[in-house]
Amino acid sequence: MTTGFFWDERCFWHSGGNYAGLLPVAGLVQPGGGLPDNPETKRRFVNLMRVTGLWEALETQTAPAATSEDLLRIHPSSYLDSFRDASDKGGGELGLRTPFGAGGFEIAALSAGLAKGALFATLRGEVQNAYALSRPPGHHCLPDFPNGFCLLANIAIAIEAARAEALCDRVAVIDWDVHHGNGTEAIYYDDPDTLTISLHQERNYPLDTGDFADRGSGEGTGTNLNIPLPPGTGHTGYLEAFERLVIPALRDFKPDAIVVACGFDAGLVDPLSRMLAGSQTFRAMTELTMQAAADLCDSRLTLVHEGGYSEEHVPFLGHHVMEILSGSAITAADPFQPRFEGQQPSDRFNRYVSQVIAEMAEVLGY
Ligand code: ZN
Repeated sequence: MTTGFFWDERCFWHSGGNYAGLLPVAGLVQPGGGLPDNPETKRRFVNLMRVTGLWEALETQTAPAATSEDLLRIHPSSYLDSFRDASDKGGGELGLRTPFGAGGFEIAALSAGLAKGALFATLRGEVQNAYALSRPPGHHCLPDFPNGFCLLANIAIAIEAARAEALCDRVAVIDWDVHHGNGTEAIYYDDPDTLTISLHQERNYPLDTGDFADRGSGEGTGTNLNIPLPPGTGHTGYLEAFERLVIPALRDFKPDAIVVACGFDAGLVDPLSRMLAGSQTFRAMTELTMQAAADLCDSRLTLVHEGGYSEEHVPFLGHHVMEILSGSAITAADPFQPRFEGQQPSDRFNRYVSQVIAEMAEVLGY
């Protein structure tokens, strides 16, 4: 079996609005650059795999858009109606930094459909594992409030569609996007059958969510795990967080499927973070997750694209993840790696990060 890669050119046509970086263009803000979530990070990821030949090793395909029924399992009809209406009228903004253009609703539904297609293909055993190159991303989106470039909650939509078809029951979501997965957390905060784990740069975005103390509520108490990490955590710290916190949480939970919210914005040169993760970090996190999936849930593993804003670096990070997922020997040497090695934290800082992680592990009894 091969690795599935779900993508669609139309997701690259989602409009980022008239932004200059994170700022709407107005007054003294000169136009240019666009929203950080521009299509080039994604398009160049595809292009790099085509150039190296890794593309040929993957089962590349598109998927149908998520249906109204799929969307309504997560989002209230009032939000979906407003979104569709504004989209039909040429675009708009319904939340925080989530501009969209004409047809934005259909593109967002397609983005969620790619996540659903990838998850279904994995759960049905049609592929070894799968990656969905979803755009717009989804992990910040609340049921009725889009934010952080996210217009629909892609992963939750996919999981609930799979549950409706009895394809899975207990699902673990590992969110290694550098920002807190506040949308996924909110949707599943009371749900004991969905383990949501978010590793993120502390107090980045959203500023005031993602605290370690937020462990879920009601029947879902204990099935939400936030792992806020200090800026500059780096390769060693990420692996330690995985080994001491993420893997034990997965073992405790016993999922029957694992979904990764795969952002690449923890990368060394990402403009929206400062975490110093390199291609070796993403390789190692992918390997550890694959091993956990093999041990716990018959290797049922699906990755869904989230953030990642360095046009130059994301393609290499993505290529390395796809190499590991597919077991391909075709590699793309990461040109940032030499710089990465020169910028890793000192032993003293690593000890500090280690202590932060140890304190969380102690509370959890790991
Ligand atoms: Zn992010």
